[in-house]
Order: sequence, then C-alpha cells, then structure tokens
Amino acid sequence: MEQSMEPQTEAEAIYQLESAVGCPHCSAMLETVHIVRLLRTRVNFTSSLPRRGYVCACPECHKVIPAFVG
Ligand SMILES: [Zn+2]
Repeated sequence: MEQSMEPQTEAEAIYQLESAVGCPHCSAMLETVHIVRLLRTRVNFTSSLPRRGYVCACPECHKVIPAFVG
C-alpha cells in the first residue's frame, strides 16, 4: 500500500462561485472555494463507495464547507 507522506496543503482545484457566499465557519465572503481530493486508502471488500471524492474547503479558514461538485 503506497501512501504519500507529503502534507496536502495545495487544493486540487479552485472553483469560482457565481455569487459570493458567506463561509459558515469564519463568515468570510467567498468568491472561490478550494476543492480537495479524497483518496481512498482502505475499504471493505463489499463496499460500494466510490474510489474517490472531493470536499470543498473555505480558502480563508480551510474548513470544509457544504458544496457539491458533480
Ligand atoms: Zn471560512
């Protein structure tokens, strides 16, 4: 099992919001969100969870904010 020991500080992508929204954590008005990739490192054999996913993070406080990338 390969696992990178490098801390992931860089966002995978940055998305522009169509209109500014307030971060629920730090109340910053956001015009962009950072997308960070989820890499599955362990899973049950029977699991039907997808191999990878994404979370959206506030670029100001780096906390996860609810958003969906499809
Ligand atoms: Zn924030």
